[in-house]
Amino acid sequence: MKPRYYIQTYGCQMNVHDSERMAGMLDDLGYEPTAVADEAHVILMNTCAVRERPEHKLYSELGSLRKLKKSNPDLIIGVAGCMAQREADGIRARVPEVDILLGPRNLHHLPHLLRRAQSEHHNQNADGLDLECDPTPATPVRRSSAVSAYVDIIFGCNFNCTYCAVPSARGREVSRSPQEVLDEIKQLSDLGYREVTLLGQTVNAYGHDLEKLPDGSRVDFAWLLEQINGINSKLRVRFTSPHPMYFNQRLIESIAALPAVCEHLHLPLQSGDNECLKRMKRTYTIEKYRRIIDSIREKIPGVSVTTDAIVGFCGESEEEFAGTLRAFEEIQFDQAYMFAYSPRHTTEAWEWANDVPHETKQRRLRELIDLQNHTAREKNRALVGGSYEVLVEGVSDKDPTRLMGRTRGNKLVLFPGESDNYPVGSFVEVVTHEAFLWGFVGEAQRLVARPASRKIIELSVV
Ligand code: SF4
Repeated sequence: MKPRYYIQTYGCQMNVHDSERMAGMLDDLGYEPTAVADEAHVILMNTCAVRERPEHKLYSELGSLRKLKKSNPDLIIGVAGCMAQREADGIRARVPEVDILLGPRNLHHLPHLLRRAQSEHHNQNADGLDLECDPTPATPVRRSSAVSAYVDIIFGCNFNCTYCAVPSARGREVSRSPQEVLDEIKQLSDLGYREVTLLGQTVNAYGHDLEKLPDGSRVDFAWLLEQINGINSKLRVRFTSPHPMYFNQRLIESIAALPAVCEHLHLPLQSGDNECLKRMKRTYTIEKYRRIIDSIREKIPGVSVTTDAIVGFCGESEEEFAGTLRAFEEIQFDQAYMFAYSPRHTTEAWEWANDVPHETKQRRLRELIDLQNHTAREKNRALVGGSYEVLVEGVSDKDPTRLMGRTRGNKLVLFPGESDNYPVGSFVEVVTHEAFLWGFVGEAQRLVARPASRKIIELSVV
């Protein structure tokens, strides 16, 4: 029987993909996955340090693993991800049973660290925590979807947002070579993948650290999108997360012109007030942010726009919070991830007074969520009766008589149907009947042989 591994993932899409890479490496070593931690020979916790709650949860989970290890001393426990990098000393001190600490830049060292842990138990070492390590070496990947794939294009972040723990966990920006990225996407397309999501903490900073091509052309994010667009007309392209500072007219025009690039932009706002943005060191103003959104909406009518926001950041006054509410009211996001600020150590704001009371943060968060939910419902309601190209991802978890998929605008759509008629990975034209906060219920019209062009989508929206 093959040895088994269990991976628990917290956090963002980058972490989800990092887990896919760790799973791929373990597969390569002859392991197989299990969904039951108690049955595993190797347990990896892939952690997130962006907020406080997952951090507390990790320590409580490690407490349970500690008991498991008592009954099975050969069990290998690893902590990977941002917390492994930032909290290594704390983890070592509080849970000495952890065998492997693996930072996000050092993933490709997993096989070597695993072998070492097997030969020298309880010898947590620093090999997996080198922040200067080149994060780009390719690894095998176990993809969690047969339709939609994540592709890393840039690692790390050169910004210093005062609330953010990511740079201390993921290091400075390093772009992958364009050839490697394009080869990976070509391979995915040949395997039948229909959608790729390009990943990077500042995904549109891609290429600024790369040499010019032999023909003198500059490699940047717009250039990369153009190359990917030429790979396969059936491929949809998404990306996350861009930074407003790396948005220029050329990029906006490329996004608008390239049929492969989906009509969805996730652009973190964080605050709608310039003073607060300044304290956050976000390096843009609300006016600049608005100009990007206006320009995108002008070039791509109907584009869906989503965002991230933090309430209750250090010193956030009622007036500043009102600026965020106003920005949400005016911009009308399709969806937003909204959080109450929690201080993270090693960040600049860690040293500042966390002076917005907990109750005030919760009240502001509730207000913002209520406003956003209202907007999202109204926006979805306005799209009822429209006809959309949906990429079928599988059967709905909640209702096996329905299939589920996403529009190019990244809206979830459920529709009655069977995989025999609408196979996973096919494009289906669906007319929406009912709108919800999370998306739509609709009715399939027909299989779409090729993805619809942007024009067809616009015309078919009622
Ligand atoms: Fe963190 Fe700011 Fe970098 Fe985003 S851009 S990862 S918020 S430091």
